[in-house]
Amino acid sequence: MGLLGEFGELLLPRRCAGCGRENVSLCTSCLQLLGGIPRAMEPRYGSIPVVGVCEYNSRISRMVVGFKDEGRRDIRDPLALALARSLVAALDLIGYAGGRIRLFPSPSSDRARSRRGGSHTVSLARRAAELAPDLSVEVHDVLLARRSRDQVGLGAHDRAENAARTQYLDRTGLAAAVGDETSGSCGKVAADLLVDDFSTTGATLAESARLLASVQIRPAAGVVLGLGRGGTRFVSPFTV
Ligand SMILES: [Zn+2]
Repeated sequence: MGLLGEFGELLLPRRCAGCGRENVSLCTSCLQLLGGIPRAMEPRYGSIPVVGVCEYNSRISRMVVGFKDEGRRDIRDPLALALARSLVAALDLIGYAGGRIRLFPSPSSDRARSRRGGSHTVSLARRAAELAPDLSVEVHDVLLARRSRDQVGLGAHDRAENAARTQYLDRTGLAAAVGDETSGSCGKVAADLLVDDFSTTGATLAESARLLASVQIRPAAGVVLGLGRGGTRFVSPFTV
């Protein structure tokens, strides 16, 4: 964040990042949204389940936009904690019984990374890992995007096409992720998971899974904050 942004944060009255209510970072109602019971869904695209803590709606969308584009660092922890809860639920869903966990955050374009000072999905995944200290979680920032993967306003088919066109793998970072596994020094990888802010049709996660499968990494589930309704089927509501 630039100097102006930091001053702005000090001078402007705080508003709820989800609904705009004054004098609070997140109001009780929006915090409850993030504290929802994790659910798994089977998205239209891809073959892995996706776990999130709430239904995708305008409030969760505003929270994520606030965090990634408007300097709302104050809500990083609540978002990351919600992501950590999704992560624990996803591990439960896939029958995790201990061992190393590798998270692969969804890509942001180079332009978005430089504008935001990094990838917001990587930032949230890293903080979620810190908030789950009992788990052996690694975050591998190897999924990249050629340009904006902004899916807003696109239909389901166009989203899948857009996702397929924009993603690629960072081969150098990937060598480190795979090298860790083959060296045997850090224990066996027990779970590979994808991470994103939202999943509606599953197109972005499906393309990430396809790319990683090409290098013998097969994510067992996706971990997100908000789940879309359209074209999806809830497969396993459960509590954690
Ligand atoms: Zn609110």
